Amino acid sequence: MRSPADYVSRRAHAVDASGIRKVFDLAAKMKDPINLSIGLPDFDVPAIAKEAAIEAIRTGNNRYTQTQGIAPLRERLRADLSKEIGRDVGEVLITSGVSGGLLLAILAILDPGDEAIFLDPYFVMYKHLVTMAGGKSLIVDSYPDFRFHADRVEKVITSKTKLLMLNSPSNPTGVVMSEEEVRSAVELAKKHDLLILSDEIYEPFLYDAPRGLPSAAKLYEKTIILRGFSKSHAMTGWRLGYAAGPTEIISQMTKLQQYTFVCAPSPLQYAALKALDVPMKDAVDAYRRKRDIVADGLSKKFEIVRPSGAFYIFPKAPKGATASEFVTKAIENNVLIIPGNVFSEKDTHFRISYATTDEKLKKGCEILCSLA
Ligand code: PMP
Repeated sequence: MRSPADYVSRRAHAVDASGIRKVFDLAAKMKDPINLSIGLPDFDVPAIAKEAAIEAIRTGNNRYTQTQGIAPLRERLRADLSKEIGRDVGEVLITSGVSGGLLLAILAILDPGDEAIFLDPYFVMYKHLVTMAGGKSLIVDSYPDFRFHADRVEKVITSKTKLLMLNSPSNPTGVVMSEEEVRSAVELAKKHDLLILSDEIYEPFLYDAPRGLPSAAKLYEKTIILRGFSKSHAMTGWRLGYAAGPTEIISQMTKLQQYTFVCAPSPLQYAALKALDVPMKDAVDAYRRKRDIVADGLSKKFEIVRPSGAFYIFPKAPKGATASEFVTKAIENNVLIIPGNVFSEKDTHFRISYATTDEKLKKGCEILCSLA
């Protein structure tokens, strides 16, 4: 007789969540920690979006929407993105968060054995989603500067490589790809006939890019853009994102959405349309200041790469300790940070989210520096 555990698929077993779970277990024991671990802005959902969501529920927008999302939101996003990238972006699909878009894209693109490339460190989900699809991750070391080195990437490409995954601004490093880096990524993709999946969820959070986000979509039509509302509008629980790109791929993602997520939450799609008109400038200015506080505060004692986007920094743990050891020490001193091995094949760095109050940031940096 099989025990319940015997029914678990090899696919589920292949996904290892132990790294992040350990951090959550440690965090659960902390009383009022200085929490520098959260990947969520510290401002609230804009009031006009909240009101629009309530209104949408009251007026009866509570049923399934079309699989691809409501027309006014899709049309608005298509117009905005097309203007930004300088050509028609293609089809737009509203997804259940960028996570939903990532899953659908990977399922729509990768056959078992196909390879997807991304840089190390990486957003945790990439590796596991590729595994779930039966694909193979080609993880390219980007230490110590976390930049896109085309020569390193080109070395791992084989005849089975199909997808180049980019994430700029990056979680966990905060690094933003330069125009030259994006150009070199696109050249590689063209040369080796790869599709680009560009995770741009942190696009609004740019601190040193007066000309906007350099995106592969501006140079290469075989790019799928993924963006969302979780970070820009502090709505991680609303589960709203979108995918845009070539019709041939987006239509396959839509078909897969029909049999998985069905649609993104209906009333919240109406609210998201309103949220698009909320100006981001004050939030971005506040985060630029917070970036300066942590980068300046930590650079005295830690090796850092100054981030230009998102709200993360990825410093190197002090000499003589693995990142996990240093994180344990920080947690014992009431500062919650995440060890780099959650986002990486290495255990040398740690991630700080600076989406918190200036006071907590300053105090947290002081404690971390005293431990270094
Ligand atoms: N991509 C990156 C790089 C992220 O950091 C996150 C969230 N932490 C996501 C995608 C998924 O975000 P969501 O599903 O909430 O839109």
